[in-house]
Amino acid sequence: MAQETLGLFDTAPVRQEIRIGLAIVALVFITLIVATPVHNIYVGAIPGLIPALDAGMLVCDLISAAILYAQAVVFRSRALTVLASGYVISGLLLIPWALTFPGAFSAAGLLGAKVNTTGWIAVAWRLSVPIAVFFYGWLKRADATDRSLAERPPARIVQGLLISFALVIFVTLLATLGHDLLPSFFIDQNQVIQSTLITVNVVVIAWTVAAMVMLLRQERSVLDLWLLVALSAWLAQSLLNLPLQSRFSLGAYVFLVLTLVSNLIVMLALITESNRLYARLALSTAARDRERDARLISMDAVAAAIAHEVAQPLVAAKLSVSTALSWLNRSEPDTKMAIRSLHEAADSSERTFDVIKSVRATFVTEEGTRSEISLNDLARETASLMDRELAARKVSLKLSLDDSLPPILANRVQIQRVLINLLTNAIESMVQTRRRPRNIAIRSVLLDEQNVQLDVSDTGAGISPDRMAQIFEPFFTTKATGTGLGLSLSRTIIEEHGGRLWVSPGDGCGATFHMQLPHRR
Ligand code: ADP
Repeated sequence: MAQETLGLFDTAPVRQEIRIGLAIVALVFITLIVATPVHNIYVGAIPGLIPALDAGMLVCDLISAAILYAQAVVFRSRALTVLASGYVISGLLLIPWALTFPGAFSAAGLLGAKVNTTGWIAVAWRLSVPIAVFFYGWLKRADATDRSLAERPPARIVQGLLISFALVIFVTLLATLGHDLLPSFFIDQNQVIQSTLITVNVVVIAWTVAAMVMLLRQERSVLDLWLLVALSAWLAQSLLNLPLQSRFSLGAYVFLVLTLVSNLIVMLALITESNRLYARLALSTAARDRERDARLISMDAVAAAIAHEVAQPLVAAKLSVSTALSWLNRSEPDTKMAIRSLHEAADSSERTFDVIKSVRATFVTEEGTRSEISLNDLARETASLMDRELAARKVSLKLSLDDSLPPILANRVQIQRVLINLLTNAIESMVQTRRRPRNIAIRSVLLDEQNVQLDVSDTGAGISPDRMAQIFEPFFTTKATGTGLGLSLSRTIIEEHGGRLWVSPGDGCGATFHMQLPHRR
């Protein structure tokens, strides 16, 4: 079954988005071409412009980081954590950059700024996003090869934030207190040293191109598309920056506006795409609820139909038995007539079975027949099928599968249905609990000469002893929207396969469901 794609990072962009992205890239490069011949025109310091641009970029970066961290938590993604941290670093570095910028808040810049301070902070700032995108692309590939999302460790947001803060403080200290350790960048507050500028831009361009190549080499998502657009703006800025002579030239200002544009692109894209995905998710949840209601209604109809079909032969059987009794209760019992009535009763009860069998046959034919299957493979497949559901509820899943498990002869669809039902129940039982780790463990073992066993344990609310037997009864449910049929059908399926399904209290908390099935060895 195809897995649902719900994250910004795994949903493919639609053609219209690609077209808009390309149009923005074209616009950015047209700006570059137009600005290049006039970029060294000296404009001079524009009061208030640096703090204004800086505030805009800072807000964009921090909003982007917040959205990316939120996605990283839900999807347990290291790649997104690194990317979000890159945006935090980029945003926070803008603070010392603006504070030390000559003429922004004071003539010489604050924080004890010297001639090269702002320049070197800007280098770190300009490198932060391309480097973060490069490692995002790298880790994204590693994330994708991890078998199950629920098996991954939770996203390390706090570490990401702490490292980001530490790096920003380090860069600020290096550029202020450690100013003399760094190579010279500016002749004075205005004039830049060309050789240093070229080296710096070549390094930024190299990282930007490496990040773009990393994104282009893999399956692209909506997020990747907008990162590529933002990086092309980043590339254009660096090309524009390459031959600059002064901090206050026209090119330098166009450079800053392009940077703001690139930050805006990512932020707006993230907000729009998250809202779009949220709307899609809400619609699909509503559709699923409707489907569930429809299923309940059709089950009602099936139950009514069975009751109707079965009632008639049952009434006939009851009547025949009463007739037989009245033949026998006479002062001179007529055994011949009584036997005839009893035969009629037997025929009627046979018809009851036929009705039930025919209803079952309708369902069984849809599901195919039994074949040799690996319970381990089925457990893995089902786990990955439930990936999103587990991740969305912040549940970790651990698989401990015995590799020596022999195959079983079973109806794959039915056994998978049982597993899905057990996992769904486990997830739902954990959602009710608070301040407890949400863990599910699936364990398979070769039990003995004849049987294999698969256990599904959770750390959820557990089941009280008096309910242990009740929960397998049809229509027993403690959920507002439950049908109470899952476990009773699951038990029927397992018993029809010659196995057993039962429950025991979990280790300390929660519950463990045990599924025992005969194997083929
Ligand atoms: P439903 O899920 O529709 O309620 P089921 O037959 O699957 O129907 O489950 C019956 C009841 O058993 C549930 O309502 C719940 O109270 C209980 N139950 C099932 N699995 C678990 C579990 N893992 N932990 C706690 N209670 C459970």
